[in-house]
Amino acid sequence: MIAQNLQKIYDEIPADVTLVAVSKTRPVGDVLKAYEAGQRIFGENKVQEMAAKYEELPKDIEWHMIGHLQRNKVKYMAHFVNMIHGVDSLKTLKEIDKQASKHNRKINCLLQVKIAKEDTKFGLTFQETENILNSVELKKMTNLKVIGFMGMATFTENESQIQEEFASLKTFFDVHKNQHELQVLSMGMSGDYDLAIKQGSNMIRLGSSIFGSRNYNT
Ligand SMILES: *Cc1c(COP(=O)(O)O)cnc(C)c1O
Repeated sequence: MIAQNLQKIYDEIPADVTLVAVSKTRPVGDVLKAYEAGQRIFGENKVQEMAAKYEELPKDIEWHMIGHLQRNKVKYMAHFVNMIHGVDSLKTLKEIDKQASKHNRKINCLLQVKIAKEDTKFGLTFQETENILNSVELKKMTNLKVIGFMGMATFTENESQIQEEFASLKTFFDVHKNQHELQVLSMGMSGDYDLAIKQGSNMIRLGSSIFGSRNYNT
């Protein structure tokens, strides 16, 4: 099933859209099935779980941290993580830069921008995002690069609302793209990735549409 699900998605999405297979809560065996079907980019939302999978799985996998990040956990992934999607403060950027420098690495980061109207989501306002992009502090960080934004739409059936939220981030991305050399706009999950791609996303994060629905035991 996993290989077939992936193939269907590969056939469906444009060539310039990158697929992050969200493997949180899935056993290593499931990740391997996706790997054997050609998938090389995987996303996790817990640092420990990602680090354990990194140890066990082939080393040509690119690991993306997509969840809300605790600063004190950055050190457990700084030696291998390829991209961190959910950065929402200068303090977190500083910690990523510091930990990456210990390993002589440069970690790609996305600023998480709040586009959903619901109150529960993490993320920066547009103004806070601009402040970080223009900050002197960011320019001094040589072991990371902010290469784009991540956004999550409201969990709703209202498609026009979802579209508007994605479109607002695309517009903001386009305004800043050239000056700040941004490349990645990470928007879209299993339930809304078609809408996200129509609104200009070039990176989607899919879990359940690849691996089936998740069982959370906790
Ligand atoms: C879990 C998760 C996803 C994937 O969700 P699905 O609905 O299973 O596709 C995408 N992005 C983030 C930030 C997530 O936590």
